[in-house]
Amino acid sequence: MRTKPAVIVAGGGIGGLSAALGLANHGCAVTVLEQAERFGEIGAGIQIGPNAFHALDYLGVGDAGRAKAVYVDRLVMMDGMTGDMIAHIPVDEPFRKRFGNPYAVIHRSDLHGVLLDACRAHPDIKLINRKRVIGYVRTTSGVKVRTEAGDLFEGQALVGCDGIRSKIREQVTGGDPIKLSGHVAYRAVLPIEEMPEDLRWNAATLWAGPKCHMVHYPLQGWKTFNLVATFQTDVEHVGSNEPGNREEILSRFGHIVHKARKLLEVPREWRRWVLGDREPIENWSDGCVTLLGDAAHPTHQYFAQGACMAMEDAVCLADQVSRSQGNFAGAFQAYQENRIIRAYRVVLSSRMLGRVYHAEGVERKIRNSVLGAKTPTEFYDGLQWLYGGTGLAA
Ligand SMILES: Cc1cc2nc3c(=O)[nH]c(=O)nc-3n(C[C@H](O)[C@H](O)[C@H](O)COP(=O)(O)OP(=O)(O)OC[C@H]3O[C@@H](n4cnc5c(N)ncnc54)[C@H](O)[C@@H]3O)c2cc1C
Repeated sequence: MRTKPAVIVAGGGIGGLSAALGLANHGCAVTVLEQAERFGEIGAGIQIGPNAFHALDYLGVGDAGRAKAVYVDRLVMMDGMTGDMIAHIPVDEPFRKRFGNPYAVIHRSDLHGVLLDACRAHPDIKLINRKRVIGYVRTTSGVKVRTEAGDLFEGQALVGCDGIRSKIREQVTGGDPIKLSGHVAYRAVLPIEEMPEDLRWNAATLWAGPKCHMVHYPLQGWKTFNLVATFQTDVEHVGSNEPGNREEILSRFGHIVHKARKLLEVPREWRRWVLGDREPIENWSDGCVTLLGDAAHPTHQYFAQGACMAMEDAVCLADQVSRSQGNFAGAFQAYQENRIIRAYRVVLSSRMLGRVYHAEGVERKIRNSVLGAKTPTEFYDGLQWLYGGTGLAA
């Protein structure tokens, strides 16, 4: 009997677990090395488009994912200066019919948990935590992966899913800098009772204000609400999941209408992210080593697509490996060729959306006028390239 090719996945986030599942479903024996004490996700929400559900379906966990999601009726953009609605995109039945799957919001640990359960149940996936990967050495038969504690794991291929500060990327590219956005995001999850009644909307709602915006939506079967408030400022380093400062967040939204601003007074605890991305690059691979998810194409959250792209990457990677008859280097070249344009379209569109959300003066008026005039069908047509995609090659 032929032994299964061994693949090492560095990082057990949404991207790493999706990659593990896709590869194991196509006959690889996968070892996931995760630096954290345990496999898990931060306590916050995430929006996922139909394209993410297409990816979950391919990975065999679409129904489990859909069972954990909350289905909003629409995506709404409000003007934070006036309190008026700028535009809305219905994501009800006609939307689902057109794109073949819903638009939904979900708690990150529920989404991660669906992938984790499936990985745990798979006989060909080994999950190992407390293993911080620091680099790799290519060998004649594949790759040796080194951890901080001095372990060596051997495989025929390595997939770097170790996030925006990826050690694997550092080695593949020789080191390229993170690009600071100057944007800081504060996150909190509120019990439903603490959500102001006049804002308990079944919508992913975005309040756009000069140099700031905030987003809220229901989560966890309407038991909680997710809140993200983002503003522009001078920052020198990216940061994630730091303790937030109530005074800082309140001082940045003083110019926003009371109806929205009062929501920022509710959370007792905030977590703070200093956001960044990286310039697009044309190569993610070094022979039998490649990158996936934020390690390959970290993006701002404004399109709500970073995790969706990581899941799509996993689908494309697994598909190319399944066609490659053990030629991982060839499969990884085909994978990156298929993914680079789509993933970086999201990265660059997200930068642009940040500007649209934070517009002021004449730009704000143009935004309101252009978006306010669009019909649902026009929005759907504009999103076809994104929500109609699966991650698989055409
Ligand atoms: C405020 C905010 C809101 C967002 N909202 C959305 C949204 O609504 N929709 C959406 O699709 N995306 C959203 N995103 C983006 C999304 O969170 C990321 O794109 C996604 O988590 C990337 O997944 P990943 O697995 O590639 O990387 P990560 O989530 O960063 O996971 C990397 C994993 O690797 C581990 N790791 C790191 N280094 C090492 C190492 N050296 N060795 C071993 N393990 C390591 C980490 O512990 C982690 O488990 C948002 C991001 C932010 C900041």
